[in-house]
Amino acid sequence: MDIPSLTIDGVRAGLLARRFSAVELTAEALRFAEAENPRTNAYLHFSTERALAQARRVDQQVARGEDPGPLAAVPVAVKDVIVTQGVRTTCGSKLLAHYVPPYDATAVARLERAGGVMLGKTNCDEFAMGSSNENSAFGPVRNPVALDRVPGGSSGGSAAAVAQGTAVVALGSDTGGSIRQPASFCGVVGVTPTYGRVSRYGLTAFASSLDHIGPFARTVKDAATLLGVIAGRDVRDSTSAAAPVPDYTALLDGNVKGLKLGLPREYLRELTKETGEPILRGVERLRKLGCEVREISLPATDYAIACYYIIATAEASSNLARYDGVRYTTRSGHGETLSDMYRNTRGEGFGAECKRRIMLGTYVLSAGYYDAYYLKAQKVRALIARDFANALQEVDAIVAPVSPFPAFKLGEKIDDPVAMYLSDIYTITGSLAGIPCMSVPCGETAEGLPVGMQILTRHFDEATMFRLADALEKTMGVGNARTQQRG
Ligand code: GLN
Repeated sequence: MDIPSLTIDGVRAGLLARRFSAVELTAEALRFAEAENPRTNAYLHFSTERALAQARRVDQQVARGEDPGPLAAVPVAVKDVIVTQGVRTTCGSKLLAHYVPPYDATAVARLERAGGVMLGKTNCDEFAMGSSNENSAFGPVRNPVALDRVPGGSSGGSAAAVAQGTAVVALGSDTGGSIRQPASFCGVVGVTPTYGRVSRYGLTAFASSLDHIGPFARTVKDAATLLGVIAGRDVRDSTSAAAPVPDYTALLDGNVKGLKLGLPREYLRELTKETGEPILRGVERLRKLGCEVREISLPATDYAIACYYIIATAEASSNLARYDGVRYTTRSGHGETLSDMYRNTRGEGFGAECKRRIMLGTYVLSAGYYDAYYLKAQKVRALIARDFANALQEVDAIVAPVSPFPAFKLGEKIDDPVAMYLSDIYTITGSLAGIPCMSVPCGETAEGLPVGMQILTRHFDEATMFRLADALEKTMGVGNARTQQRG
């Protein structure tokens, strides 16, 4: 069985034709993932028993002649900020190294209900804060395309698992780019759905007004299938939307003729040549398919990084207050008083990036500064959202870079937080506006590093985004960068 070449359709066909059972596939996928993992450190732990139990359920359904669901037997990896009942969920943090949640996130429950088999939990930056996966307390992830480079972050483990071929699809989370940027760096598809499209019940909160769960896959169709499974209203998350979920895969006919695309001027200014060229070539391919491309302007773009790092840190400082050694987390054994216990638990447990954000966030929310920073940032956020709303009245979709540069070397930016924050420049805007956005492979640099194109559409119009990405993918050949590199 060639696990890395599997797609959702391929698994389904093999299963229904009885070429393999779900248990056989799962056992082989687990064996392969465990053997490959030392190369990349993509998985933090495997959920072997749960995976095999789920596979047995799928086999029983097949034996009874029942439909085993759209993800039947599909090996899935899940980012370790998404809680899983009975399976350790660390959030990449020492503080939660031993935390075993008592319930499942809705997205996980839904993918299992659809027959998906969770193989294990993937590495990530601590509490999803980072752009390189180097902020994990359990060691960095290596990019399977180039092992001396980062996979991007914070969902680096999920992107690497899919790129490496150990999982067919994966779940990640995105607050300011954590699905799209690693997808671009690893040469896979990564989708940040509309804010509210997918329930966050069971997603460990980082910045609640920005957090999303979304899929990684090697093909647009697989990403669309996975989103279709996890999307939709959930009574357990009051921010989840009741908007109907279309059958995304039925709309992937390769026809994008007449769609109007906007290329934002502000996103091309500082783009390096190595990343810019593959993107412009990708845009050219869409033009040849009949899309109309025009330049647009998103004038508030310059304020996006400042705005995001105020809002995200403010919300994080509040969300991370619960890791105090009382409600959650391993308690420090040092100190005499209650205050010592809090201080030592948090001081010893959090990594440098989390501490930096808690301090920043507490500062911008403090009484004398709230209006000057947090309130101001909220106003800027409204301007950024308005830019997109205006542009998307003129065009059907916006095409843009995902990141100013391709995957960088491990260690290259870790001592310079500001340089690291700048890697999010093209992704945080879509997150602040809450619109659907994704990264689809569109080529590679001269060195052979993958480059993703970002596609952004109107609220709840993932369908147009998938159609465009799928049409582009069909002109490129599936899994282009990854397959060539790994080969
Ligand atoms: N890199 C961004 C940050 O560090 C985005 C992270 C994310 O989307 N979770 O905040």
